[in-house]
Amino acid sequence: LVVSVPCRSLENERTLVIVKPDGVSGNYTTSIRNIILQSGFTIQAQLTLHLAQHTVTTFYAEHSTKAFFPSLVKYMTSGPVLIMVLEKVNAIADWRTLIGPTDARKAKITHPHSIRAMCGEDLQRNCVHGSDSLHSAAREISFFFPEGTTLKHDEL
Ligand code: UDP
Repeated sequence: LVVSVPCRSLENERTLVIVKPDGVSGNYTTSIRNIILQSGFTIQAQLTLHLAQHTVTTFYAEHSTKAFFPSLVKYMTSGPVLIMVLEKVNAIADWRTLIGPTDARKAKITHPHSIRAMCGEDLQRNCVHGSDSLHSAAREISFFFPEGTTLKHDEL
């Protein structure tokens, strides 16, 4: 008997999550944390910050030439965000699956049980961020938790 299994790493991965200003102000952080823990992730670090304009500009540098960029920066600096590092096997893809598609309006139709369907509003105000690859996860985690600093547990 030959059983074919999809090839995926059994190593733990880390991914960066941001509960965006609409998620924090809408009081979704407790529900999101419950989903995280029930889905088998461990929270390695967390930090509440009110992002400065230059921080958002650098974090989202790949989008700096897009028409929506000024409005994205305004949104992301509009209130505090909750930043978390999550860990588990296949964390990056599994978190992206849980949050659903970028456009929360579409998510409500196509992925009604996703986090963005639960607390997002539209293509911009979509409540949560998740790293989209190993490469961006590494960049984003070291962006908020630079190597050599202890991961911050500000209210674990
Ligand atoms: N975004 C936007 N307008 C767009 C596309 C994206 O305002 O047309 C915002 C949205 O908040 C999104 C973020 O920019 O989450 C980053 O976009 P990306 O395409 O990387 O989507 P994500 O990886 O967050 O799903």
